Amino acid sequence: MAYDSNNIFAKILRGEAPCIKVYEDDQTLAFMDLMPQADGHVLIVPKEPAETLLELSEAGAMAAMRTTRRIAIAVKKALGVEGLHVMQLNGAAAGQTVPHIHFHVIPHAAGSVLRVHAAQRADEEGLKAMAERIKASLD
Ligand code: AMP
Repeated sequence: MAYDSNNIFAKILRGEAPCIKVYEDDQTLAFMDLMPQADGHVLIVPKEPAETLLELSEAGAMAAMRTTRRIAIAVKKALGVEGLHVMQLNGAAAGQTVPHIHFHVIPHAAGSVLRVHAAQRADEEGLKAMAERIKASLD
């Protein structure tokens, strides 16, 4: 399917919609998920316009994985959680709700249960405070 440049992440990348930024470089942008499955849930978005991993260039995939790894390390350091998910959904059939390729980093404390995917909006001040903690842990 053709890439839809009106999706919300494309608007965030163009600066037309807000985000709570954690990290940015030439090829990627990382920001807080507004409906986190756990506190500290971050999204890593390649700037290249691609709907899924299958359309993303090899260079884009490498840049996305580099940033995903950096964010995962920072989230672990900031929250001290025992586990982390790195998740990436391809296509609505697989549960993808925003049609611009992205990776999820979701902390998972031992014994906790993740919240439902893309379901409940978190308090904005709490998300901003969490973003600052993660930013402070970036190497
Ligand atoms: P997926 O279902 O893998 O496409 O994931 C999309 C993610 O984006 C979900 O976890 C949503 O909670 C999150 N999300 C949707 N809109 C926004 C937004 N404007 N800012 C931040 N996160 C968003």
